[in-house]
Amino acid sequence: MTLLAEDVWFRYGRRGPWVVRGASLAVAPGEVVGLHGPSGAGKSTLGGLLAGLVAPSRGRVTVDGVPPRPDRRAGRPNPVQFAHQHAHLAMDPRWSVREVLAEAGAGEVPAELVPAALLDRFPHEISGGEAQRVNVARALLAGPRFLVADEITASLDAIGQARVWRLLLARVRARGIGVLAISHDRPLLDVVADRVVAFADLTAPAGAEPDGTSPDR
Ligand code: ADP
Ligand code: ADP
Repeated sequence: MTLLAEDVWFRYGRRGPWVVRGASLAVAPGEVVGLHGPSGAGKSTLGGLLAGLVAPSRGRVTVDGVPPRPDRRAGRPNPVQFAHQHAHLAMDPRWSVREVLAEAGAGEVPAELVPAALLDRFPHEISGGEAQRVNVARALLAGPRFLVADEITASLDAIGQARVWRLLLARVRARGIGVLAISHDRPLLDVVADRVVAFADLTAPAGAEPDGTSPDR
């Protein structure tokens, strides 16, 4: 059970620049891998590929040989959950926090992530940092094997950041969830991750083109 990217290439549209160029990466169960790089490098895009939010233009992303995708008809959520940096964008404005969490799955919601006072609020009534914590709680309730955590504490102060990560790390370790922690904040990744990879080391230089031998979609 490994989350695997193999020679993954991706661009937005048919003619845009290649944003992800031949990236290969493995995340093992229970492992926290940090993905570091400057803003705009392509980290979120690679995270979205690993979570199956978008399909590679070339190459493969798999969990145990199967592309990560929710099986809605079988009622199975995606084994790879994605927690957004822009958490508000991931929330339906018509749903209260309580409804968002109930829809994700059954289970206890840590009050440290989502205090009771937040439960009956709607997305426009909570801050960016609160939305990020709701998003993390939602992802955990979905019972993932892997979690892509994209700048999940970027809107929190240092204390809030430490609280969220301490709680998250305890949960993922207890359940053997593999994590891809995406951040531009190298010192943060050095603290939370078992190993840190630089986006630039995963991908060919800007302007590189895939060769004709890669599997096409
Ligand atoms: P980040 O801080 O992760 O680089 P941004 O704030 O730049 O993200 O982008 C916010 C949202 O807009 C993201 O969901 C991202 O996927 C999307 N986005 C970023 N750049 C573009 C673009 N050039 N065209 C369309 N959507 C974009
Ligand atoms: P990072 O997460 O490292 O900040 P992103 O993956 O958000 O980087 O963005 C990488 C590049 O892809 C940027 O140039 C961004 O503008 C572009 N991009 C991101 N989302 C979109 C989109 N939906 N459509 C077009 N371009 C996008």
